[in-house]
Amino acid sequence: MNQEYIVKIGEIALKGKNRHFFENQMKSNVINRMQNTGASMRGNHGRYFLNPGNADERTVHHILSKTFGVTAFGRVWKTEKTMDRIRKTTLDVVRAIQRETAGRTFKIEARRSDKCFPLNSYEIACDLGALVLSNFPDVKVDVKHPDWTVSVEIRETAIVYGLLNPGPGGLPTGIAGKGILMLSGGIDSPVAGYMMAKRGLKVDAVYFHAYPYTSDEAKHKVITLAHILADFTGSFNLYVIPFTEAQIILKEKARKSELTLLMRACMVVIAGALADREEALCLITGESLSQVASQTLSSIRFTNSMTDLPVFRPLAGMDKEEIIHIARKIDTFETSILPYEDCCTLFAPQHPVVYPDFERMHRSFAALHIDDMLKDTLLRGEVIRINGNRKC
Ligand code: ATP
Ligand code: MG
Repeated sequence: MNQEYIVKIGEIALKGKNRHFFENQMKSNVINRMQNTGASMRGNHGRYFLNPGNADERTVHHILSKTFGVTAFGRVWKTEKTMDRIRKTTLDVVRAIQRETAGRTFKIEARRSDKCFPLNSYEIACDLGALVLSNFPDVKVDVKHPDWTVSVEIRETAIVYGLLNPGPGGLPTGIAGKGILMLSGGIDSPVAGYMMAKRGLKVDAVYFHAYPYTSDEAKHKVITLAHILADFTGSFNLYVIPFTEAQIILKEKARKSELTLLMRACMVVIAGALADREEALCLITGESLSQVASQTLSSIRFTNSMTDLPVFRPLAGMDKEEIIHIARKIDTFETSILPYEDCCTLFAPQHPVVYPDFERMHRSFAALHIDDMLKDTLLRGEVIRINGNRKC
């Protein structure tokens, strides 16, 4: 038996003339992650088949459940195009389904693209339905709301498959260009990166590190988060920018109440320059409207004005609980809540400005005379390649 996987897509199937572009990106994202396995993928029009080469089942599950664009996938059984072989394979598939679910109702979904096959789709479904009923006395047919479905397709060969696993959905990473994710060690920013990658954006990340105010553990926490994210996004660059000098200037020169906001402004200036250098077209942050003083509408208006690039804030309209729910789902939560302090928390004033005046904030920023120094930090940044092919 030759073991393959069927891979299904959602929104890509709705694309018009440039659908091939989306399909090819999804296929190459899967294959790139299956390095050194000899895996290959074929198919089009919303139905793809992955030959996993020498990759084991666990690896295939790990990769397909985290590759954007994939909505569902599952093992397929390939067999000869004779009813005898198809019947035998159908019984194997039902046995495999019953090892995984206690559901009792089923339906057979048959498709015949080879019109020379002697039975039509309806006849195949009736034949196999009767076969399943006679071999498994405790199951019954429910064509409207079955607990499980056995799908049979007659193509160059016959294929049969049962339960499908959910994929992450979305659009294949890379089809939407590149953005720079401002990645701190908190709960929000990894979720923001995940959400934008899910819409097809290739994400590189920047982390502002203020050693020794922030420890090396804080930096390693960010690296760990980046690795978890790379399971979804594929490999990317993490730029670690030295932020201590900026921090010292801010501490010396900034009004205490404006310190956090000016610090954010500095980060946006550097991230914008990095995006220009790396030919990225947007920034992404984990900001959520009104979450803290630096994320009120007037605060965001100010920090937003420090760059010409669009700044995506996919969490803007979400509650913390909703964000945490996604952080748990993508497995970043437990790392994010490790206790290493970020530079922003350490320097946070007790009474930050909540509704800052736009012009006044710009005057405060100009008074820091910090532009050249900020651009200079970019030259001293460290680039860490985050590998998207973690062992699972
Ligand atoms: P997070 O939002 O990262 O989960 P948080 O809510 O404590 O943690 P905030 O202080 O609200 O973080 O920061 C808002 C956003 O600014 C972050 O989501 C992130 O995009 C960006 N940011 C903050 N600190 C840093 C940093 N040290 N390096 C890179 N980006 C940062
Ligand atoms: Mg936040």
